[in-house]
Amino acid sequence: MVTQPEPRARAPWQDAHFIGGHPVLDLTNTVFNRAHPAPDNELLKSPSDVLTWCASVGLFARAPALSDDAADGLAAQVRSVREQAWAVFDAVSRGEAVPGPALGALLERSGAGLRAGHVQARVDRLTADWGAPGAIPEALSLLAVRALFTLPAERVRVCGRCGWLFLDSSRGGRRRWCSMSTCGNREKASRHRHGTEPASAAPAGGR
Ligand SMILES: [Zn+2]
Repeated sequence: MVTQPEPRARAPWQDAHFIGGHPVLDLTNTVFNRAHPAPDNELLKSPSDVLTWCASVGLFARAPALSDDAADGLAAQVRSVREQAWAVFDAVSRGEAVPGPALGALLERSGAGLRAGHVQARVDRLTADWGAPGAIPEALSLLAVRALFTLPAERVRVCGRCGWLFLDSSRGGRRRWCSMSTCGNREKASRHRHGTEPASAAPAGGR
């Protein structure tokens, strides 16, 4: 639906925020730590955060100019979609049925965007009138619905340390961490210090 270019993160985002392997999984990872929420856990705080994030995943090349109407509540709406998508793919990662209310909300919001003409679906991509009020959360909802039916469910994983979701595209299918350079190395360091297999991740002080 959207093509996935190499991540070209726009400030304040960094490439390390885009390790999910799919824009919808990256969206679910726009919290600092999913498993052990930090006091300042939120990464999507403002309309500008949303626009730079969307540009970073390649939804659009140039951010649309948003009217006050379109900017109003944008971050909160995208956070709602994010939490619904997280609930769906967290269930997928555990091989469980997806929660009906979360998937239902994603279907309703994407349906509203399609009916209003804000979002257009094609076989291989999605386009939208990005500046229209509601278009961004509507398009993200449709992406999430599409991802549910197209991503290989057995490859959707949860980082054992921070709880971020990712698509394991490694050949052996045994990836355990969002990234070796953050959680993988911290886990190794922690195991080394304690001399044991840690039962659960300690609250991370940083990514
Ligand atoms: Zn992690």
